[in-house]
Order: sequence, then C-alpha cells, then structure tokens
Amino acid sequence: MATDIALRVRPALAGFEPYDPAFSPCEVNLSANENTYPLPQDVRERIVQALANTPLNRYPDPLANELRDELAAWHEVDRSCVMVGNGGDELLFNLLFCFGGPGRALVVAPPCFEEYKNFAKMCETEVVEVWRNEQDYSLDDEALIDAAREAALVMLTSPNNPTGDLVEPALVRRLLDETDALVLLDEAYVEFAPAGTSLVSWVRDNPRLMVLRTLSKAFALAGLRCGYLIANHEVIDVLAAIRQIYSEDVLAQTVALQAVRKRSSFEPVISTIVKEREELARALAELPGVTLWPSSANFLLARIPEAGSIRARLRDEHSVLIRDFSYAPGLSDCLRITVGTRSENERLIGALKAILEVE
Ligand code: PMP
Repeated sequence: MATDIALRVRPALAGFEPYDPAFSPCEVNLSANENTYPLPQDVRERIVQALANTPLNRYPDPLANELRDELAAWHEVDRSCVMVGNGGDELLFNLLFCFGGPGRALVVAPPCFEEYKNFAKMCETEVVEVWRNEQDYSLDDEALIDAAREAALVMLTSPNNPTGDLVEPALVRRLLDETDALVLLDEAYVEFAPAGTSLVSWVRDNPRLMVLRTLSKAFALAGLRCGYLIANHEVIDVLAAIRQIYSEDVLAQTVALQAVRKRSSFEPVISTIVKEREELARALAELPGVTLWPSSANFLLARIPEAGSIRARLRDEHSVLIRDFSYAPGLSDCLRITVGTRSENERLIGALKAILEVE
C-alpha cells in the first residue's frame, strides 16, 4: 500500500538526501582528507590498553569531563569553555540548532564545507552565501562584514575545505568588532598550517568567537567521531544543555583521551604530511593543464580539464580514489586530493601521468 510519509515529513527536512562521500573501494584512498598514515606506535599501544580496561556496561560521562579537562589544559582555557561532540559535525549541527532558527541567518563563504548549509537548512536558518573570488578563492571581506551585520552566525574555515587557504586574523577581528554575530572559526585542518595559525587563544577575550577542532584529521581518528569546540562558557552551557546526552560513547572518550594526552607523538607525522604536500604540489604542477592553489591543509585543490573523467579513470583503471568537485558551483573541473604517504602520492602521480600520456 502506498504511504504518504513524504508528506508527513517536517517541511524544513523534506528533500534531503543521505550524505554521500562518493566512496568506492580502492587500493589508494585520497578522497576524504583523512590522515592515511598509521597511528604512532606508542599511541596505538596506549589506546589498546585503555580500551581493554573500559567497561561497556555503564553509560558514558555525558559531558566527557576527563577529556574536556585534557583539551582545556592543552588549549589553556577552563573546562567550562570546552564541549566535545560526536565529530565536529555534531557540534556544527548543535550550533545551528541553538543559535539559528526561523528569522535568523547564517553567513558562509563558499566554496566551503557543504554541511554548514545543510545543517542550517535543517534548522530552518536562512543561508547567506558570500562567494569567494572565482580565480584565487580569496574572501570578500567587505561583503562578509556587511552580511554578518544582519546575521546570527558566521562560519568560516581556516584552512578552508576544499580551497586550502587560511582566514586572515584581521578579518576575524573586524567581524568581532564591527558586527554582533557569533563567529565560528572551523579549524578542522589547522594542525597542518604554520605554527601560530590557530585563533583558539582569542576565545578568552572574545565571547562571540568559537573555534571548532577535530581529531579526525591530524590525529588520524576519523572513524572515532570526536570533535570539540572552544568557546565562551555561556555558549558551552547552551550546547551542554541541548546535546544528545550520550553522543560521545565510552570507547570514543577513552581513545580520544589517550590521543590527546599523547598529542606530541603526532608531530612527526604531521610534519611529514606537510612536507609531502609540498612534494605532491610540485609533482602535480608539472603535469600539463593543471592549476593548483596553495594549501595549508592536508589536501590540494587542482583544476584539470576533463576532471570528472580523469577521476573516474583513476578509480577504475588505477584503483586510486580522489574527490571530484567539478560539479560544484565555483569549482568547475576541480579535484580535491588528500595528501597521502610517499608511496600513495607516487602512485597517484604515476597514474595521472599514464592518463595524461606524460613521459
Ligand atoms: N569541518 C570541516 C571543514 C571538514 O572538512 C570536516 C570533515 N570533512 C568537518 C568539519 C567535520 O569533521 P568531523 O565530523 O570528522 O570532526
């Protein structure tokens, strides 16, 4: 019997599709900005031991306070300024759930992470898009500030996904000084940027600034689902009150705690990825027809004629998966390539040379 489920869906949620990362099993997966290196051995050992001692019959600590304390000590803020979430995604959703809603607007600067817009729509929040410059993807500061004057929330990404560039601190300063909006700076990839890039330390003196971080990228824990927000305690209090009470499970809390405690063990792999990014950029730039943008993240954005078919041939003929953005507004013929290990990157370059018939 036919049902009318579609008609019963809350109107703001009608028409959404499940998230599709366009994943196909491939030998080399450079499609999702993950850290493709193994976990540092000492971290792995600690995690295995800690997991073995984690009881599963008890509910988790809803606020993950041990983990919050460790994150707070790292970032030199009070525990009351830290909230943990089931990936950065949960925190982004909850921010819109709390501070968006009918009659309120979110300002974004596309091309950027598409979930900002999706979550805003789910939360019945108007989305104001201030597009980046079509050539160099630079931000339009004046237009962003103008839009932010009328908005509840601004979300900027530094480094940006998929363009790889950083947000100038001066723009964040102006957004805080010249508008009344809450400003979320998404630093999911900031560990790959030059030291001193993060604006976490600004949170203490700027109660409308919020900084999002994740363990999914530099800390090689995308499968774990753990992100965190550093913000004024009043923001954190609201998030604490509305969150899914046990969204961060005991296993995730246990693993995240070990990884954060041993954060210095990740430094060598992070600097290797940064070096490999420059190596990969050099090799890609030598290929015919490739335009590259400078990146401070663990991925590169490359424009190449026939990008969609090149990506399909990489997958089908060479078992190398990268992300196709050629369909997306502002990103025609663009591919996003995660920086992998030396051998993964060489395999990608070899495959591209074969497809482009370069010696
Ligand atoms: N922000 C940006 C810019 C991202 O690219 C991602 C993941 N792709 C996230 C946030 C969310 O990451 P996670 O939910 O894995 O923490």
